[in-house]
Amino acid sequence: MNIYAAIILATLLSSYVLNIITDILNLKALRKDLPDEFQDVYDSEKYRKSQEYTRTKTKFGFITGTFGLIVTLAFWFSGGFNYLDQIVRNWQLHPIWTGLIYIGILVLLKTIISLPFSVYSTFVIEEKYGFNKTTPATFILDLIKGLFLGLILGGPLLAGVLAFFYYAGDLAWVYCWIATVIFILIVQYVAPNWIMPLFNKFTPLEEGELRSAIEDYAKSVKFPLKGIFVMDGSKRSTKSNAFFTGFGKNKRIALFDTLIENNSVSELVSVLAHEIGHYKKKHNLKSMIISILHMGIMFYLLSIFLTHQGLFDAFYMDHTSIYAGLIFFGMLYTPIEMILSIFLNIFSRKNEYEADRFAAETIEDPGSMVKALKNLSADNLSNLTPHPVYVFLNYSHPPVLQRIKAINEVA
Ligand SMILES: [Zn+2]
Repeated sequence: MNIYAAIILATLLSSYVLNIITDILNLKALRKDLPDEFQDVYDSEKYRKSQEYTRTKTKFGFITGTFGLIVTLAFWFSGGFNYLDQIVRNWQLHPIWTGLIYIGILVLLKTIISLPFSVYSTFVIEEKYGFNKTTPATFILDLIKGLFLGLILGGPLLAGVLAFFYYAGDLAWVYCWIATVIFILIVQYVAPNWIMPLFNKFTPLEEGELRSAIEDYAKSVKFPLKGIFVMDGSKRSTKSNAFFTGFGKNKRIALFDTLIENNSVSELVSVLAHEIGHYKKKHNLKSMIISILHMGIMFYLLSIFLTHQGLFDAFYMDHTSIYAGLIFFGMLYTPIEMILSIFLNIFSRKNEYEADRFAAETIEDPGSMVKALKNLSADNLSNLTPHPVYVFLNYSHPPVLQRIKAINEVA
């Protein structure tokens, strides 16, 4: 076995084992007694249900992960990558078309294989815990729209990357980098108007107490708010959330209808204050800069490894090609990505504390921020006592109890 195969195999196996260990730690950290802070939003039945939900999802994750690992290894070691390559090569198309079809078929295979799991998750698990509102029709339409978007957005981008590596010589990685950054900025800019309405309905928030409370708050912190929208999150799930989309002049806030239903006006303002806090502290900009730099490094490394024969030998390939190299590099890059994601999660958790702090300092009653966080946990049956190691590796947000503690210290 060559060095590339060894690295990729070791990564696949070690991340699988690490997931199992942290899952077990996490399950062991479930506490029987409801934390005092939550007496007003949970009863013992709801608390028991939330822990059951964590257990069910963890078990399901274990099954999905095991299945995914087996399929990946089977496809790899039976020479599946080379077999597919021979079929597509036989059609004797231009190498860019061959690459698009090769990667397209792999993506499609992955979607088909994971489909039963996604059906089970939505229609059995989420259904059992009372979250699911997705109809089979919505589910199928989502799938079709997702594939269609992948095709019309991902296709041209991929064609561009392949073309640069075929024709642009040593600086191909720089062109790929620039093109991808421009692509992502455009997609983010048009997403609120062109992409997200494909999946959800966004209605401007009607005049009234909530709207004026939000506008008053935004004015008090000098935040130019362009649009406040209600999103029909209840179309798919009873879970709730709020988020900003777009950037520059195209910023808008979307509140899930489910969030509005379950929170008072001052609680909703505190949720919004948190989101505005992210903007005020420039978290979005910083994250964007980090991911642009990350992309540059990735394309540079890609350009180095793309032509290494050993990488193709590791996957039993008869021919080297740029498109297959992209896939194999993606797998080789996973350990770096795993380590990087730990740092990104640390950064993100720090940002969450900062946004909470901003909200607590600028709203009238920080108590409503605490209440909103508790409502959110209860509505989503969040795990109130995750294991610290699990949090360290996987959580982009601090556990809710720690957030409450930090807010209470500010207030
Ligand atoms: Zn946040």
